[in-house]
Amino acid sequence: MTNRVRHFVLTLLIFVFFSWGFHAHKTINRTAVHLLPAQLSPFFIQHIDEIEDRSVSADKRRYVDSTEAIKHYIDIDLYGENPFDSIPDHWMDAKQKYTQDTLLERGILPWIIFWEYKKLVNAMDSGSQASVIRHASDLGHYVADACVPLHTTSNYNGQFTHQKGIHALWETRIPESFSGDYEYYIGNVVHLANPLKFSWILVKESHALIDSTLSLEKRLSDHYKEDGKYRFKIKNGQIGREYSEEYVNDYNLCLDGMVERRLQRAIRALASFWYSAWVEAGMPDLTKNKVAGREDMSDRPAEITPNRIHE
Ligand SMILES: [Zn+2]
Repeated sequence: MTNRVRHFVLTLLIFVFFSWGFHAHKTINRTAVHLLPAQLSPFFIQHIDEIEDRSVSADKRRYVDSTEAIKHYIDIDLYGENPFDSIPDHWMDAKQKYTQDTLLERGILPWIIFWEYKKLVNAMDSGSQASVIRHASDLGHYVADACVPLHTTSNYNGQFTHQKGIHALWETRIPESFSGDYEYYIGNVVHLANPLKFSWILVKESHALIDSTLSLEKRLSDHYKEDGKYRFKIKNGQIGREYSEEYVNDYNLCLDGMVERRLQRAIRALASFWYSAWVEAGMPDLTKNKVAGREDMSDRPAEITPNRIHE
């Protein structure tokens, strides 16, 4: 294997392991468009394919931008017994309490959601359609990640509890297997009075599901023999193993609709963020591009800008 091929395979593996699958991210961004109110939806409908495609750009950036990975999670468990009482919502306060290095080390997902939201407000206000598409899509990615329990713990892949592989099992295998039967158009879009607070609420909800996410799988695993739990798979000329269909099916039954509910939550939350950004921008007509000339639509790494955006 050449170095380049090896790098590609490795990236593919990491990619597959630590993110809602492509399929779920795309579904979330696309479906959220259909929940938007009539005054806002024309622009989003017009660009729905791009907003769907770009739902996974943030994950792809991880391989060209070393600062990207920390934006997709927060290891809440590292903040003590009652973490949500300990961590200040606002970046500046949290930074003062824990230092920036500590915050960066433990992941910055709730703040990134808020900063992306602010960038979207600015983009809508400036009338740059390319920027609106870029930030609306990225916001969709991070909001979706915040709805996954395993994105809120340092034990993100069950590595500390002998449950390695649970990350992809929960957020990739289950949606890929069952999302065809999910009900998506549930609930209303709401105006978010406090978008930062709301991103913390999503993280808090997800974190509350960690115990059942892990313990249900543990209990199920105890009842399975190794050869029933896994099946062999040939990938890139190599033999590997993955969870058997029966196991995916049984874990999904144990979770009793949890994955579907978090997916629904992500979709409604995203539509609410988009709508609130538009209201904050003064409800502009987004179908009119106010930026002259061809805009740069390349997928530049998004910089971390904690000091530039005021909360
Ligand atoms: Zn992600």
